[in-house]
Formats: sequence, C-alpha cells, structure tokens
Amino acid sequence: MSHQATEPQVNAVVERVKEIGLKFELSRGEDRTLVGVIGSNAYAYREAFSHLPGIKEIIPITKPFKLASREFRSADTVVDVGGVKVGGTQDVVVMAGPCSVEGEEMLIETARHVAARGARMLRGGAFKPRTSPYSFQGLGEAGLKMLAMAREETGLRVVSEVVTPADVELCARYVDVLQVGTRNMQNYALLQEVGRVGKPVLLKRGMSSTVEEWLLAAEYVLSQGNRNVMLCERGIRTFEVATRFTLDLNVIPLARELTHLPMVVDPSQATGKWSLVRPMALAAVAAGAHGLLVEVHPHPDEALSDGAQSLDFAAFDRMMDDLHRMTSVLTQVAAK
Ligand code: PEP
Ligand code: MN
Repeated sequence: MSHQATEPQVNAVVERVKEIGLKFELSRGEDRTLVGVIGSNAYAYREAFSHLPGIKEIIPITKPFKLASREFRSADTVVDVGGVKVGGTQDVVVMAGPCSVEGEEMLIETARHVAARGARMLRGGAFKPRTSPYSFQGLGEAGLKMLAMAREETGLRVVSEVVTPADVELCARYVDVLQVGTRNMQNYALLQEVGRVGKPVLLKRGMSSTVEEWLLAAEYVLSQGNRNVMLCERGIRTFEVATRFTLDLNVIPLARELTHLPMVVDPSQATGKWSLVRPMALAAVAAGAHGLLVEVHPHPDEALSDGAQSLDFAAFDRMMDDLHRMTSVLTQVAAK
C-alpha cells in the first residue's frame, strides 16, 4: 500500500482478497503496510486489484517459500516463548541441557546450573530419534514430566523434540518449544501437526537439506497459522568425517537475508566434539545467530546419548563467560 493509504483502502483490498477466496496477512511496517496474498497462483489475480485505490505496487513473491520470505515480511520475527524473546535485536538466548532427559536428579542439577549462568531455556530430549534402534530411546512422557518440574523449579522455558505426529499434543502439554529434529525436517505430517497446535517450534535443518528445502519445511508450519517458527542450523553432511557434521556458518547471514525467522545454532550436534562447541558457539553469534542450543551434562562420560559433544559445567561456564565478552564487542561493531 502507498504511504498515504487510508484504513478503509487497506480494508477494501483485504475484502477483495477474501472474495476471491485467497488468504492474506497484513504486515504493518514502520513506513508502509503490506498485504500479503497467499494461495496457489495468487499473482494471476493481480488485475483484480490494480484499480483499487491506495495500492502502490503489486509484487510477486519470487521465492517458493512465501510466508517465510523477507519479501513477505521485512521486519524480523521475534518469537515470544513465555516472555523469553528470540529474534530481531533481542539478546542471544542460550538453550542448554542434556541431550536426553535421563532422570530427575541430573535434569534438575543441570537446569539449576545453566539457569544460574544465564541460560533462558532448558533443552532435553524425552523422545529420542536414535540412529540405532538399540540405543536409548528416551523416557517418553516421564521425561516430559521431569522437564515441566524443572521449569517450575528454575523458571527456564523448556524445549524438547517431538518425533511423531501422534505425540504432538502430548508434548505440547508439557513443553514451551516443540523441537523438530534433523531426521524429521521433511516429515510433512509432523510439520503440519506442530503447525496446528500453535506452540513455538524449533525447526532443525535436515542434515542433507538445502536452504530452500528447509525454508519450505518452515512454510509448512507457517501455513497452518503457526507463525512462531525458529530455524536451527545443526550441521550438514559433507565429505569431512573428522567432525560429526559440518557447521554451515554461511547459512546464518544467508538465512537472515532470505527470511525474517529467528536463527538458532546448535554447535553440539554440528561438531560432535565438546572441545569445539565453545569456539563454534562464538562464531555462530558473531555471524548473527539469535540463539544457541547447547548440550550440557553433569557427567558427560556417563551420558546415555551424545556424551562426547556435551559440555560439563566448567566448560559451559567458560562458554557463557566468553559469550558475554563477545556480545559486548559485537555491540561496538554494530554501532560503528
Ligand atoms: C538433539 O538435539 O539432541 C538432536 C537429536 O538433534 P538433531 O535432530 O539436530 O540431530
Ligand atoms: Mn543430541
């Protein structure tokens, strides 16, 4: 809409969209209002709008992902997880905790520690998508209950993975953020279901997925009406086997150009090696990440999953100290 467009003019455009049977989303920016029109082949209807007063221009969204694109929404999305805000110019949010919820004691101990050091969310898998069927599969609902208890105790928001569409409602009852894992990024039934429940979603990048496939996966969730999607880069498969995966740092600034959605980085899965987690966490924040997902365990040697990439408490403290130092430098860089 043009700068001078009046409220009735905006409404008339919206009414026209509804009459045609297309969907819309209003985006009110600082200096202009954008009416996003959604539907297959929506651009073909442009003639139906061209004569309406107040319209400045009709722009096709050239990307295959629409709701996720910067063209559709120029301002950064800030996902509000019960008051903890991720995205835009908000402080970097650290989500920390064990790979798997193994028991009440270790979970509370970890939650207390990471909360005291500045983490805002507690991570922990209750349903684990393990590569081998013989590996620990998680505690299921009992694990979710422990996460909810840890939230009560510490005030941390809770993020946990949901593996199948049938468990989405159960998980949503206990957690604040539903994590969709790398192995499920293209599980479209799961994406639609997490879209329907409306809880914030942390969408991991498929380990062999392109950026476009990832953003189209986000589009599945967004198009169900759930706009609270955070992306999570967690490393991709390359020829290199010296590390578990290869952290794609390029994708952080790239995704921030292509999409308004917040970007979280998981240096734990990406490296597979605890000693690499702190430097890669710092690199991710320097590249523009809005949040970090980090595995922390009181005794990594005894962890039931991903011990080799889990930080112990001392290593976590060091990472947090360095992150604080790093953010003050970045503020100076940004101000220049
Ligand atoms: C995890 O966060 O523990 C996990 C299994 O993540 P991913 O889906 O990225 O492997
Ligand atoms: Mn893990």
